[in-house]
Amino acid sequence: MATKIEKSDEEWRAILSREQFRVIREKGTERAGTGAYDKLYDEGVYHCAACNTPLYKSTTKFNSGCGWPAFFDALPGAVTRHVDNAWGMERIEIVCTACGGHLGHVFKGEKFDTPTDERHCVNSVSLTFTDTDGTVKPQ
Ligand SMILES: [Zn+2]
Repeated sequence: MATKIEKSDEEWRAILSREQFRVIREKGTERAGTGAYDKLYDEGVYHCAACNTPLYKSTTKFNSGCGWPAFFDALPGAVTRHVDNAWGMERIEIVCTACGGHLGHVFKGEKFDTPTDERHCVNSVSLTFTDTDGTVKPQ
């Protein structure tokens, strides 16, 4: 099981880009269609951009057309859900279990043709993709 990673804002700022800090630590959202991994379908694993914990396999990624990377399931235990009542809507926020970094939200019952009928809508900047050779694909 992943260990809890705790850092101060200053420490996170030192390792994350401005945009990553805004999204991951301040629960921001990148602009739709701007993420480097939105249309990426190479085989590999998506890690947390903040702490490098593996979160999603490419085999669970699908094209939702929503403008952000979409997955129908996470690696077991890698992602933790919280109810988010921001903006007057009840949504399910997903964070990296290991470091608490904001990933995005889970939407259910949208009838995408996936095994779970869930869409993990994840900010591309919250992820680091590594292909099967271990090569990191840059943002
Ligand atoms: Zn993390």
